[in-house]
Amino acid sequence: MELTDAQRKSLKGQGYLAYKDGLHFSCRVIIPAGAMKAQEARKITDICEKYGKGYFSLTQRLNVEIPWIQYQDLEHVKRELMEVGLSIGGTGMRARPAHTCKGSVCQMSFFDTEAVAKLIDERFYKGQYDASLPNKFRIVVSGCRNGCSKPYLGCIGLQGRKPNQVAIVIGGSSGKELVIGKELSGLYSISEALDIVEKVMSYYRENGMPGERFAQTVERIGFETVRSFLTR
Ligand code: SF4
Repeated sequence: MELTDAQRKSLKGQGYLAYKDGLHFSCRVIIPAGAMKAQEARKITDICEKYGKGYFSLTQRLNVEIPWIQYQDLEHVKRELMEVGLSIGGTGMRARPAHTCKGSVCQMSFFDTEAVAKLIDERFYKGQYDASLPNKFRIVVSGCRNGCSKPYLGCIGLQGRKPNQVAIVIGGSSGKELVIGKELSGLYSISEALDIVEKVMSYYRENGMPGERFAQTVERIGFETVRSFLTR
């Protein structure tokens, strides 16, 4: 079956990445906070043996890609993943599921990063799934200054500095252009930080140009202007 560019684009937005051969796809499976349960791992293994070529890979952001799925099997894969509570996605012009370090178990962490990543996924990925943004939007969480998840390269990054208090960095990017984000002044509780994420996304939705990454929006408008809006 020959797919149009619009169909491929739509499938990509749902988490199905088309191959050059025009026949196969990678299915991107969201692993909340990068922590895969044994039952989920077994299901993914079953699926890649049944519909793919018997292997899967991990993405840089700790999600899973199951390669070599044929178009006619995409719905079967989606349905089987749902049996264990997993979903395909994490693509498109929206907030992506949060990328976090191992701060829920790491002795260096100032807060439970996995719990915060799950709050972010509920509120900004699932909760704003249909409220499209100018481009993808990456939220990064790290438990301490070591920044193993690279919060300075996220559209917005939360970095633990004191127990349950985080610094906030905005405007980073690791795409075609590497941009190091800049820090807002002060420290924030987790709840305050999530409200800032909300404000940043609204600002980006209203002020970003189509296709523009948030780092470019900040550069075009000016960090100080964006900062003063966010912190007033
Ligand atoms: S950023 Fe800090 S808390 Fe997170 S894994 Fe690295 S050292 Fe641990």
